[in-house]
Order: sequence, then C-alpha cells, then structure tokens
Amino acid sequence: MRCPFCNSESNEILKSKGNTSKDLLLKCNECGNTFRETVITEKPVECRVVVSEYESSEKKFIKLYPYEKLQIGQIIEVEGREAEITSLETKRGGRIWESPLSDVETIWASYIDTLARVGVSVDFGGRVVSKKVEVDRDFEFEIGDIVKLENLLFRINSLKTMERKMRKGFARASVTKRVYGRPIEGIKRYKYDLSSKVVVINPKNEIL
Ligand SMILES: [Zn+2]
Repeated sequence: MRCPFCNSESNEILKSKGNTSKDLLLKCNECGNTFRETVITEKPVECRVVVSEYESSEKKFIKLYPYEKLQIGQIIEVEGREAEITSLETKRGGRIWESPLSDVETIWASYIDTLARVGVSVDFGGRVVSKKVEVDRDFEFEIGDIVKLENLLFRINSLKTMERKMRKGFARASVTKRVYGRPIEGIKRYKYDLSSKVVVINPKNEIL
C-alpha cells in the first residue's frame, strides 16, 4: 500500500474494520500523510465444477474468491484450460443465470479449446442416417443450407440447439446438438462439405 502523497510503502495501520474486506486507515511513515485503503482478506475457496468435453464430463475443483460473481457465458480456467460456464446450480437446487459464488453449489462448464461435435441426421422417409461431425465452434449451420456428407447431399430442415428446436434461422456449432436434414436430388451444388469432419466414436467415447 503506497502513500498517495509521497509514494512510500512504509506505513502504520491506525484503524482497521471489516471481515471479508478490511477498511484500513493508514499513516505514512515518511511524510505523515494519512490515507484509506480497502484490502480483501478472503482466501480463495474450492468450487466444484462439472466440466464437459463432447459427451463426457468430469468433476473438478477450482479455486475462486468468495466475493466473485459468476455468470453463464463467463470464461473460467480449469486446470489451465479455458471453459465457458453453461449453467449455475445454487445451494437451493435451482439453476440461475448469475450468482455470487457463495450461493453456488456446482458450476457447469464446457471446454472451449475444442471443436464442436454435432450430430447430423438425414431422414430418408423413415430410415435415418446419423453421423457425428466436428467443426469449429464458430461455424454456423443455417436452415436451408445444402450440405454434402460423404456420398449424400441433403438440405438442413431443422436444428436442435441446447435450448430449443429451430425450424428457421441459424445457430453456431458450439450450441448446436443436432442438424436434421432431408436428402435432395437433382442438385449438384452445395454450400459446404462435411465429409472430412465426420468422426467415428466407439462406446468409450474415443475417436477411432
Ligand atoms: Zn507519504
């Protein structure tokens, strides 16, 4: 704590009050100036975070300060990797958009340093071909897009995002769970080719 007058760091505490943060009244040992400072004395606490990566999720603990406020969409660091808060579960059991850390029971987050993994289902009038693709998180799927996927061409007719089913508009891959399409014939042009993005996943969730 520096004296705002002479910049000296040598001082004496005259008064101190508060618990989680302390309001201090200080006297500079160099010039005798008195000044106030607020210092936060809380220590970081362990918080439970369930962090997901594709279909699997893991429970971890991270250290945060009790005075911190958390919000959905906020980026937190989990073991050196960046993750985005997707949900906050409070001690009362509900889910909330924003909360002081002290009310949070579990933070739900998802790593953002990965590609987005999205399901693609093409419906041939009852017979459905399903694949998983991995694309950049910022990639946008739009209803009406004509897409090549290996040996088939389809048109996107709906999207399922984390929150809803969509029949028009577009969605970022990071929030898209599944793309639904219908095969089309007689068209050779397509907007993009997802063939190289297909991933094959075995039951243990490893990419083959
Ligand atoms: Zn001073």
